[in-house]
Amino acid sequence: MTFETLGLAPALLRALADNGYTTPTPIQADAIPLVLAGQDVLGGAQTGTGKTAAFGLPLLQKLAEGKPAGNGPRKPRALILVPTRELAVQVGDSLKAYGRHLRLNVTTIFGGAGMQPQIDAFRRGVDILVACPGRLLDHLERGSAKLDAVELLVLDEADRMLDMGFLPAIKRVLNRVPANRQTLLFSATFESQIKALALEFMRNPVQVQVAANNTIAETIVHRAHPVDGPRKRELLIDILAKRHTEQVLVFGKTKHGCNRLAEQLVEAGLSAVAIHGNKSQAARQRALNEFKSGKARVLVATDVAARGLDIPNLPLVINHDLPMVAEDYVHRIGRTGRNGASGEALSLVSPDEAHLLRQIQRMLKADVETEVVRGFEPTRAVRSDSAPFDQKRGPRPPQRPQRGHRPHGKPAQAQPRHAHAGPKQHGSRDGRGNNKQGGRRDSRA
Ligand code: AMP
Repeated sequence: MTFETLGLAPALLRALADNGYTTPTPIQADAIPLVLAGQDVLGGAQTGTGKTAAFGLPLLQKLAEGKPAGNGPRKPRALILVPTRELAVQVGDSLKAYGRHLRLNVTTIFGGAGMQPQIDAFRRGVDILVACPGRLLDHLERGSAKLDAVELLVLDEADRMLDMGFLPAIKRVLNRVPANRQTLLFSATFESQIKALALEFMRNPVQVQVAANNTIAETIVHRAHPVDGPRKRELLIDILAKRHTEQVLVFGKTKHGCNRLAEQLVEAGLSAVAIHGNKSQAARQRALNEFKSGKARVLVATDVAARGLDIPNLPLVINHDLPMVAEDYVHRIGRTGRNGASGEALSLVSPDEAHLLRQIQRMLKADVETEVVRGFEPTRAVRSDSAPFDQKRGPRPPQRPQRGHRPHGKPAQAQPRHAHAGPKQHGSRDGRGNNKQGGRRDSRA
C-alpha cells in the first residue's frame, strides 16, 4: 500500500516525501479513500496512529480542488475542533507541513492568547481553521469568525473534548456550521455520549477502527511498582538516576503537584520542566521546546496538558500518580511506542491507588504486571487483584478474599517479582515477551 494508491494528489505526495513518510498507517489507509469519496467518517484512533494525516491529507486535497466562494476575505472551508491548545498547534503545524505545496491558509485559534491577532487573521482570510471550542465561540459571538462556508468539519479527540466539558460549546458551534457538510469524528473511545453526538450530527458515518478500544500497543512494556505514597518521589529519582533513558515523560495528578515535582527533580540534579493548564501558552510552549530539543530530560505533565503533545520516539513514560480515569492510562502510555517503536511505561502505585489500578485492569481486561523495587517495598499491600476477565461469571463478589500483592508473604503465584530500578530491569524485559498487558495473571486462571 502506498500513498499514490490512496488517490492523493501530486502536491501532497511531494509533501509526504519531504516528511519522509513512505507507507500509510492503518488509519490512513482506511480513512483517506473514504474522506476523498465524501463519506462521513467515525475514526477510532488515538494519538500516535497517524490520525492527523488520515483526515488532514484528504481535507487538504478537497479544499485545493474546490474554490473559495464570493469576494472579500476567505472564510474557513474546513473547521477542525480540538480539545487543547497544544493539539491545536500540533494539528495546525501538521496541516501546514502536509499542505506546503498548496496555497491554503491554516489558522490556529485557542484561548490564553490575544484576541486581536486572531481577529486580524480572520480579516486576512482563512481556508482551514483549527480551533478550541471555547475561543471559537468567543469569535462567533463577536462576529469575527464566520462558519457559513464550512464544507468539512473535523472533531478531533472528541472523547477528550467531552471529558473537558466542551459538549455545550461544541453543539453551539455545530449549529453555526452548514448542515450540508462532511463530518469526521476521531476519538480513542466510543462511549455513549460520543455515539449520541455522531448520531445527531453525522450522516451515515462509516466507522473505521485501527485498534480495539482501550488497548495498548504490543510494542509497549508496562508495569506497576507498588510503593508508599510519600516515597514515590524518591523512587522516581532512583529510577531516573539509574536509567540511561534520554527522555522521560512523567505524569502527575495536579497542576501544583506537577510544578512541585519538577522543582524537586531539579533540586535532585535532573533537568526537568513542568507543563500544565495554569501556565501561559508561551510558558507551555517554552517547556515543550526545552523537552523536545533535549535541553530538559524530564517533562512533568498533567493529562490535559499532555494531550496532543507530539514527541517522537519517547522511550519511557512514568506515571508518578495513576490517572483518575482509566482510559487516560491508555492515552498516557500511547506517548511511547509510537509507530511500532518499542516503549516502556512504569506506574508508581501507592496502596491508596489500588482501586485505580483495578479500574485500569478491568478496562484492559488484563492484569498489569506488578514489580516491587527492592528497598521501596510498601508498608501496606497494593491490592490490585480483580476478576474482570471471567465474562461468564462476572466480577468477583466483594466479600470474596482478594489475593493481592504481599511484599513479604505468600502465595507464590500472586507474589510479584522484585526488581531493581536500574538498567538491568530495563534489559530484563526481553524475557517477558512483548505484550505486557497480561503480565501477572490472576492465580485462578
Ligand atoms: P498523530 O497520530 O497524527 O499524532 O501522528 C503521530 C506521529 O506519526 C506524528 O509524528 C506524525 O508526524 C507521524 N506520522 C503520521 N503518519 C505517518 C506515516 N505514514 N509515516 C510515518 N510517520 C507518520
